[in-house]
Amino acid sequence: GGGGGGFGKVERILVSVRLRPLSEREIARKDPCDWECINDTTIIFRSSVPERAMFPTAYTFDRVFWCDCATRQVYEDGAKEVALSVVSGINSSIFAYGQTSSGKTYTMSGITEYTVADIYDYIRRHEERAFVLKFSAMEIYNEAVKDLLSTDSTPLRLLDDPEKGTIVEKLTEEVLRDWNHLKELISVCEAQRKIGETSLNETSSRSHQILRLTIESSAREFLGKETSSTLVASVNFVDLAGSERASQALSAGARLKEGCHINRSLLTLGTVIRKLSKGRNGHIPYRDSKLTRILTFLGRECKNCNYLHNEPCTKPYEQSRNTLLFASCAR
Ligand code: ADP
Ligand code: MG
Repeated sequence: GGGGGGFGKVERILVSVRLRPLSEREIARKDPCDWECINDTTIIFRSSVPERAMFPTAYTFDRVFWCDCATRQVYEDGAKEVALSVVSGINSSIFAYGQTSSGKTYTMSGITEYTVADIYDYIRRHEERAFVLKFSAMEIYNEAVKDLLSTDSTPLRLLDDPEKGTIVEKLTEEVLRDWNHLKELISVCEAQRKIGETSLNETSSRSHQILRLTIESSAREFLGKETSSTLVASVNFVDLAGSERASQALSAGARLKEGCHINRSLLTLGTVIRKLSKGRNGHIPYRDSKLTRILTFLGRECKNCNYLHNEPCTKPYEQSRNTLLFASCAR
């Protein structure tokens, strides 16, 4: 969906579903695919378990990207418009939600690359403005925010700024020289995440990663003068923790335990998205988790896009269903 309607204050959050292809192992095991795509917005679940097969369920989204769909297409049909609004001074966030191994990181890294390539292309075509690109990266694990561009693992504090909203104190911000520089920085982040992984036991499935690209631009004719026309905005690429933990907590009806922080950020995000989708009235609990505090501009002038990821086979049936239920609510 192209969104349409121009740049309103806040637009509805686009919610799309992507199914990854069956892996070689799943093919070898002959895992059946219980999902069926009937058009590019509707997906049907019909279980191969006989007693369940009688009750197929249909789910509708802004877009459904089937197993054979390339990330390029996924990007063009959603994330692109959202991410590129950043050059016009509009903040945006792109989320990947889903259980572990459903393809979140695969999608996000592709989308990040395409976005940056398009931003550099835009800059080349707009010589009348001067651009500065900055990159920062953080990880939220157990409600502690860590700088992925620093070897210092002291948790970062969040501060409230009346103008800028929530600021992550002392977060490293690298001014990008070029495309290769960005690639270098992304591999630094990956290495940092790996270090955490061995000591914290599979961090990557339990932590949220936010890669942030900030773009400042000014019209060259005003450079150095009092009257400036500076635009500043960020696009956040959010690779969320595996949703299986949150859905387990939900299905067990368990009260959120103190210390059960992974769930807190994910569940709060769900609540915030649901509330935003019903309009901006009433209390939106941004402050209940680090993730939603960092992304407070989610509710300001911004654009957002949420990709739900699902495994193509039956095995994680409950979790896949929970992913889709989360998404239907978000819509
Ligand atoms: P997650 O981040 O959700 O845990 P990954 O992105 O790591 O999942 O994906 C799990 C595996 O599936 C990886 O080996 C990845 O390369 C592969 N994969 C995911 N999505 C696709 C896709 N659309 N096409 C091909 N391979 C994919
Ligand atoms: Mg991942």
